[in-house]
Amino acid sequence: MTNSLVSEIESGASLLLRELLACLPLGIAITDRDGQILQVNGAFSALTGYQAHEVTGKHLEFIASPRLPNPDAAPGAESWGQRRDGSLFPRHQVLHPVNGQDGALAHQIAVISDLTKHKQDESHIERLAYYDELTGLPNRQFLLQQLAGVIEREQRENTTCAVLLIDLDRFKTFNDSLGHSAGDVILKEAARRIESAIRRSDTVSRQGGDEFIAVLSQLHGPEDAAIVANNILAAMAKPIPVGQHQLTITPSIGISLFPHDANTPESLIRCADTAMYHAKEQGRNNFQYYTPVLNHRVQERMSLETALRGALLNGEFSLHFQPQIALDNGMITGAEALLRWRRSNGSWMPPDQFIPVAEDCGLIVPLGQWVLEEACRQRRQWNELGLPAFPIAVNCSALQFRQPAFKDQVVDTIAAHGLGPQHIELEITESVLMASPECAQSVLGELKALGIQVAMDDFGTGYSSLAYLKQFPVDRLKIDAAFIRGLDQDATSRAIVQSIISLGRSLGLSLVAEGVETQDMRLLLNQLGCDYAQGYGICHPLPAAQFEAWVRDLSSR
Ligand code: C2E
Ligand code: CA
Ligand code: CA
Repeated sequence: MTNSLVSEIESGASLLLRELLACLPLGIAITDRDGQILQVNGAFSALTGYQAHEVTGKHLEFIASPRLPNPDAAPGAESWGQRRDGSLFPRHQVLHPVNGQDGALAHQIAVISDLTKHKQDESHIERLAYYDELTGLPNRQFLLQQLAGVIEREQRENTTCAVLLIDLDRFKTFNDSLGHSAGDVILKEAARRIESAIRRSDTVSRQGGDEFIAVLSQLHGPEDAAIVANNILAAMAKPIPVGQHQLTITPSIGISLFPHDANTPESLIRCADTAMYHAKEQGRNNFQYYTPVLNHRVQERMSLETALRGALLNGEFSLHFQPQIALDNGMITGAEALLRWRRSNGSWMPPDQFIPVAEDCGLIVPLGQWVLEEACRQRRQWNELGLPAFPIAVNCSALQFRQPAFKDQVVDTIAAHGLGPQHIELEITESVLMASPECAQSVLGELKALGIQVAMDDFGTGYSSLAYLKQFPVDRLKIDAAFIRGLDQDATSRAIVQSIISLGRSLGLSLVAEGVETQDMRLLLNQLGCDYAQGYGICHPLPAAQFEAWVRDLSSR
């Protein structure tokens, strides 16, 4: 039957069949057994833009897009087609083989349909199901699914995520008094601003009403969520123009953390909701964690940050100096500058507590520059007072070291105080190298070329490996106090110190022992071949004047 159909069409004998082909809404192409087109119908021409005479004799696949592979996994049937004008369309094509009288393949009938409309409907349905029509943000449904996925990943990777529930303060009042279209303007603008305040990898969704939820994934700690919450508060602070009004809409934000507070999407949202009510009780326009301890911690941290910024302006910082001596003859060979903060209330805040905060908020960059300036000023003064010309060692944070202008700033500051590269030494930790090895390598190379010495601080506590260290042109290793402490007690520390010393030797580096507290340690370190020492057993860090007296006393002995 099919065979006679083909020959009927080929011979053009059957008007009825021609009519049938012409009025079929599906594109039809009849080809020979190799796929060369013999005939196409009207729907084919409408679909592809090619008239019958333009395609006869061409291979069927010439309407396939040469550029794109199949759009979906649907095996073979769905692929991209290309119209005469070059535009692409999602194509569904089924090939029916037609055998000849001898039973061998003689023809093929290709039935082609355009899936554009179908695809549009699919994505429209998806939009309806997963997106909020007013703001274009994902909706609650989407969020729940996504949050489940995020939780799964955080569980696998042992990381933290946060749920921020953001509720606009007094939205109902605005909505009722100004009308719903004003309310819509506010919601759309709020959506845009919240979106701009979060990382691109995170999502914000609208829960309905004036409530939004942001999911923040892969946080380093609970404080990261506070940073984002602050960003949202800042983004919302600017008035929103609505008609002839300028409205200031503030949010109240509740924060819950996975796995700290809960471990399912629903319960995390519930915790965030509770926290959001606390934020309302606290007077709105603020954020609260579900866990009270975290609120306290973040509050302390924020006030510390504020105090730190003020401290630099108010001159609350000073430097103390701790000598380094040569183990063989006891002569002074250097001094480490150690930052001290005396708060306005008179209390001293240890650097271990405020340096990490200064690093987090970026204040370490201007603060570090202040330390460098102050160290240079002091060194210059001691030069003028005739103190021995030992270098002052300045600690540098990774963030400082990564500043593109870092090397120039060091060089300029040293020069501005009339000093040479021999007067200042830099101390860096392995984290400086780890953060971006290539950059560190080139900066270290430049510093070396300029004659500025660099010491590797806290050596032995990081990723120290011989192979690694070889790539970085440093001048000395400071053996971490933790190993020195155990020197006269446990064999492991002793073995570590010994191997660091021989490693340093083999790389041509000089060695400094930190935290040397006793005379016995000094002797032992000297025997082990360590060059220099620093620690309470020699001298505590001292304010400049006392340090100066110590040095004079030492030289006069
Ligand atoms: P660090 O660079 O390892 O500095 C040595 C620390 O060990 C100093 O603590 C010093 O007072 C202390 N120390 C010295 N001798 C002994 C000893 O015999 N026994 C013991 N137990 N400790 C000793 P400090 O001054 O509290 O500084 C702590 C850390 O703060 C420093 O560790 C350094 O990482 C950072 N820091 C201090 N000043 C600066 C600075 O200006 N910039 C930067 N980025 N970090 C600084
Ligand atoms: Ca140091
Ligand atoms: Ca150290």
